[in-house]
Amino acid sequence: MFKEIDIPQRTIMTPGPVEAHPKVLRAMSHTILGQFDPAFLSIMDEVKEMIKAPFGTTNEQAFAIDGTSRSGIEAAMIALIEPGDKVLIPAYGRFAYLLAEIAERAQADIVMLEKDWETPFDQQEVIEKIKEVQPKIVAMVHGETANAQIQEMEKIGAYCRQNDVLFLVDMVATYGGVEIKVDEWNIDIAIAGSQKCVSVPSGLSLITFNKRAQAIIESRYQKELGLSKVERNERFIQSNYLDLSQLINYWNNNRINHHTEATSMIYGIHTGLRVLLEEGLDRVYARHTLNNKAIVAGVKAMGLGIYGNEDTKIPTVTPILVPEGIDANGVKDFLLEQFGVEIAGSFGDLQGKIWRIGNMGYSSRRENVLQVLGALEAALIYFGAPIQVGKAVKAALDVYQANHKN
Ligand SMILES: *Cc1c(COP(=O)(O)O)cnc(C)c1O
Repeated sequence: MFKEIDIPQRTIMTPGPVEAHPKVLRAMSHTILGQFDPAFLSIMDEVKEMIKAPFGTTNEQAFAIDGTSRSGIEAAMIALIEPGDKVLIPAYGRFAYLLAEIAERAQADIVMLEKDWETPFDQQEVIEKIKEVQPKIVAMVHGETANAQIQEMEKIGAYCRQNDVLFLVDMVATYGGVEIKVDEWNIDIAIAGSQKCVSVPSGLSLITFNKRAQAIIESRYQKELGLSKVERNERFIQSNYLDLSQLINYWNNNRINHHTEATSMIYGIHTGLRVLLEEGLDRVYARHTLNNKAIVAGVKAMGLGIYGNEDTKIPTVTPILVPEGIDANGVKDFLLEQFGVEIAGSFGDLQGKIWRIGNMGYSSRRENVLQVLGALEAALIYFGAPIQVGKAVKAALDVYQANHKN
């Protein structure tokens, strides 16, 4: 016999997954509706509408894809890439290599533009590379979580549009936490996920695309074999599950059967988005900015260093340099075991060199910030790290106090 699962209480301060909003968890416990039940279809229709504001778009096409954020990234890339298509991927962090990995599987002709991970690109450098390479698609990450840097997009997007290049952007780490302007920045297709700043469990991806992308996607439409033996397409998209041309027709009023929609996840994303919009996006972004300021002030007050260029640091993640001789994983595990506080390490060359404190969605709360700073200080004292003692929480409180007076 197996015992009932026993879930410990945690304070999650990683760059995802974050704590789900309690209203989201409650919504997810509602009874199941059939996928073509009008009561459920109206929830899907509202989700489509609510997805748009945090993306900063009026695109007609916006919906959710069942699967984590990378399912949306993969759906977007395989919808636009046909074998041999040239794709330029400027990389200033880890997730650009996920774009490359997916483009490779889609048999793209890939050109990487690589740099160190301490800053994003100067937009002009990317534009020069686009001029040289003349790709069909430029694929980029708006906010890189592994190294915590954020990329400006406006000029790159404008250049792409003027030169008829498609611009695809991973906005997973910024959507709902940082202001995004898909339309103004001329982004053709953008992807986000549920488990970061939308405070919904992992398992859904959000996507939006404009008429330019839609035209390409629809030109590759093929009806599923079980529904039609005649509507074949030589240029069909190489996945059934992630076929955007079919998903458009599942999420619009055609309601052509595709997979069985994940009912409870749709209740969850409806609630996560509604809560965001109810708080007001400006207030949501201001909350993330303030908590970011408090985290940075606390970390610095301890005498710890921040990795990378601070002016271009993403507000939703703070990368902290591990002091010389301190066991990075040991401290991270200690925080979880003793305080129930979870922070993250990093990947690639940064593994063991930095810790990352997330500041996303429902986890982006004052009490969480104060808790993680207090716990980190105590853990570092315990591990014998040479830090300034008794200052971190006070520094963060000062940030909140100063904000209160304004
Ligand atoms: C978290 C993250 C992803 C991957 O998301 P999954 O939901 O795990 O598939 C992709 N890109 C960025 C920038 C991320 O932060």
